[in-house]
Amino acid sequence: MYIPELTTQVSSSHTVSLNTAIHENHTTKKYRIALTKLRISSHSLHIETGRYINTPRALRTCTNCNMNQPETEYHFILTCPIFKDIRKLYLKPYYCRWPNINKFISPMNDKNKKNIINLSKYVYKAFNERLYNYLSSMCSHIY
Ligand SMILES: [Zn+2]
Repeated sequence: MYIPELTTQVSSSHTVSLNTAIHENHTTKKYRIALTKLRISSHSLHIETGRYINTPRALRTCTNCNMNQPETEYHFILTCPIFKDIRKLYLKPYYCRWPNINKFISPMNDKNKKNIINLSKYVYKAFNERLYNYLSSMCSHIY
């Protein structure tokens, strides 16, 4: 009884608006997943992976840059120089100048849809660049 009702609702809905909604969800899904992974600590930043093997927190440093700082979510979003070009594209300059913990918390709690999408895009693209850099360094060890 539930499925026929659902079928009726779907077939009676406006086809164009349904397709548009699916398209929007499909294109933004990868960005939302990236931001969600960052928020729930389901990522591969060293602050998290080091915890799995009992590496002291101070030694979970970022290997992407030479700042010798722990690779935390804060470092990943606001300070790691490797991602400065991506940061300029997607984050407001206010957050990038003189970063601090309040400037880290603000975009994570932003309710503005456009700002959240931009933050999601930043996280997605920065994770991809980080993975690309890691794989490139692994390949350089092989050849
Ligand atoms: Zn770094």
